[in-house]
Formats: sequence, structure tokens, C-alpha cells
Amino acid sequence: MTTLNGKTALVTGSTSGIGLGIARALAEAGAKIVLNGFGDADAALDAIRATGAQVAHHPADMRKPDEIGAMIAMANERFGAVDILVNNAGIQHVSPLESFDAQKWDDIIAINLSSGFHTTRQVLSGMRGRNWGRIINIASVHGLVGSAGKSAYVAAKHGLVGLTKVTALETAGTGVTCNAICPGFVLTPLVQKQIDDLAVREGLSPDAARARLLGEKQPSAQFVTPEQLGGLALMLCSPLAAEVRGATWVADGGWTAQ
Ligand code: NAD
Repeated sequence: MTTLNGKTALVTGSTSGIGLGIARALAEAGAKIVLNGFGDADAALDAIRATGAQVAHHPADMRKPDEIGAMIAMANERFGAVDILVNNAGIQHVSPLESFDAQKWDDIIAINLSSGFHTTRQVLSGMRGRNWGRIINIASVHGLVGSAGKSAYVAAKHGLVGLTKVTALETAGTGVTCNAICPGFVLTPLVQKQIDDLAVREGLSPDAARARLLGEKQPSAQFVTPEQLGGLALMLCSPLAAEVRGATWVADGGWTAQ
């Protein structure tokens, strides 16, 4: 079992879905947790407290670099350091390029890509000073392959994979590692919206829409779970992963094996 006693993890976008699943796994391993994200922060705080971990929440909007700075300052003041950074916050918007809303493009690039630059540059010197750190970027299969209708998301996730590689190279001689996890479909609010839209568009039942979405891309026909991704994050935090650097680790039910 990996032990993270004495370490602090900041997980962006962790009031629901994958971020909350990863925060819970790191908390169960002993880390103190800084949550971030919109919506019901109290429920997420309770879920982490239930593991016995110390936890705080900061509501920084990942589109705003000054709020990101305030969140990292809060984490340092409250818990003394950020040892593990999980860049997870992300949104989706599906539309053909010609009609893709320009504000949505800017928001997706800001949240899914640029926020990872702003967080990483501010935690790196502390990690280097302690000669230990783990940066985990939650990219996507869409950091490796494209899908029609997801121009901003695919561009941002490919960018995040690039940022992962450069961060890994710039820290290669240190105890800091940076890697990306690339999930396929996970049944979270982000994907539920795509299922709901598909059901309306094609006149399908919720079950049929779910099966259609998975069937188009994910050979296992099973959703990846936040718990499985929490396990992968924990593995990347373990001493045995000290030389895993700049990797893009898929958990995608076979999507990118095709
Ligand atoms: P989700 O909608 O359940 O969670 C997104 C989180 O980000 C929430 O906590 C939300 O409050 C937060 N968030 C949104 N906008 C924010 C902002 N401006 N500032 C701060 N926080 C903000 O989605 P999810 O499916 O858990 O997605 C998490 C990450 O995983 C995203 O980066 C997503 O691209 C990636 N991902 C998801 C899937 C999937 O199938 N669900 C697959 C691959 C990758």
C-alpha cells in the first residue's frame, strides 16, 4: 500500500466525478486534501472527511490566474506545501467547428489546458526544494486521438499531453515526476450531458443512448470508474513509479487500441 502520510494533494475540479474519486483515493492513503470546484462543496468535503483526512476547499475559478494563485497560497498556508498536484478541472462542449461558440472555445482552453500551466509553475519550486513531487494531469483519450464535434476539448487535451511531456523533461533530474492519465468514457455529469443530448437528438431511451455512446468508441462497453482512476493516481504517487516520467497512461476500455 502506498502511504501518503504527511503529503498534501491539491486536486482541481474535485467537487464531483473523477476529481473527487482521485481525492478520495489520495485521502485514504493518508494525504491532506485541498479540493476545488463549483457546486456542492459540502458533500465533497464530507466524503473526504469520512476517510479521516484533513481537507479544505477553495472555490477558485480555473479560468482566472489570480484566483489560482490565491488557491495555491491557501494550500501552502493551511497545510505547508503542495506535494501532489492533480490538474483535473475540465468542461466539455460538443458542436461542429463552423458553429462552435467562441466563448466556449476560450473557456475550454482556459480550464482544460491553461489552468494546468498556472498551477504547475507555482508549485514546482516548492517540489524541487523538497526534491519530491507528483504532478498528474487528467488528460483524456482525446489527448491522443480526435472525435468530431470536440475541437476545443481535443485541442486542449493534446496541449495538456504536450505540457506533461515538457514538465517531465524539465524535472527529469529530480524527485518530481509529471504524467498524464488518459481516460475513456467515465459516467460523470460531463458524460451524462452527452448521453442526455444524444437521447434527445436520436429519440433514444437513456439506456439505449448510454449503450450507443459507449458502443461507438469503447470496445469493453463498460465505463471506466473514478475509483479505478484513483487507483492509477495512487500508483503514480508510489515510490515504484519514481521513473515513470512524461507517460500518457490510458484507462479506456480499449478505445485507443483500435
Ligand atoms: P465533472 O463535470 O464531474 O467534474 C468537473 C469538475 O470541474 C467539477 O468539480 C466542476 O465544479 C469543476 N469545474 C468546472 N469548471 C470549473 C472552473 N472554471 N473552475 C474550477 N472548477 C471547475 O467532470 P469529470 O468527468 O469528472 O471530468 C474531470 C476531468 O476528467 C476533466 O478534465 C475531463 O476532461 C476529464 N475526463 C473525463 C472523462 C469522462 O468520460 N468523464 C474522460 C476523459 C477525461
